[in-house]
Amino acid sequence: MKCPHCPDTFTPNWTAQGVGSDPDTEGSWQLSWTNCPSCSRLIVRLTDRWNREGRRGVKSERLVYPTIPIPVVPEEVDEPFSQEFKEAAATLGISPTASAALSRRLLQHLLREKGGVKHSKLVSEIKELREKNILPATLSDDLDSVRQVGNFAAHPIKNTETEAVADVEEGEAEWLLELLHDLLVAFFVAPAKRRARRDSLIRSWRLLARNRCRSPASGNSGRLRREVRARDQLSRPQCRNYQLAFCAAGGTTYA
Ligand SMILES: [Zn+2]
Repeated sequence: MKCPHCPDTFTPNWTAQGVGSDPDTEGSWQLSWTNCPSCSRLIVRLTDRWNREGRRGVKSERLVYPTIPIPVVPEEVDEPFSQEFKEAAATLGISPTASAALSRRLLQHLLREKGGVKHSKLVSEIKELREKNILPATLSDDLDSVRQVGNFAAHPIKNTETEAVADVEEGEAEWLLELLHDLLVAFFVAPAKRRARRDSLIRSWRLLARNRCRSPASGNSGRLRREVRARDQLSRPQCRNYQLAFCAAGGTTYA
């Protein structure tokens, strides 16, 4: 789960204590608590469990302490995605079912706008994005787990109407937020870092070309490549790619 106090994610080791039952609950209330291993802060949640005809489930679950988790959204994430994530995170402590609905809506928004998938049912859109192979393999597998974690077989409305408020499985709302956070990093933060690195290397090529190798015919092109490779610790293919980018950006050709 994502720690509501700090930006870290951890596997919680909940200690649970039954509180009692009430005719309205068809089950019992349970209080559980854990500590974040990173910041050591206490996290407490209250769960309303149902128990019918030998089957058990979670009717509702809310964070009791802290009451509202602190959403941490990377600064590279554009609007409205950043705001939609904050809303889903802020709602978690009040209503996991509402938070999960907001998360599913944001997930679909991301798949369509950043993943470029055709508008369809959520599971089909996830399948289409996975087939594009643009996400890291582990994240792509996590995305595929949305329907299992959310038990879509029992709640098909989650697939057809993503914003619908439907029963959540235990831990589903928190898991959706973690997945969304990783997707936001993949769609916004990673490309921004690559862009910054590419721009910096093109500037390096320009500077070195201006200072050291005014005449390509003088045989200095090999030295230029070696200097850039050593300075920026590039592999040979990376060096070649950045050199091509440099040329495409209007630099002198050093083939
Ligand atoms: Zn923490």
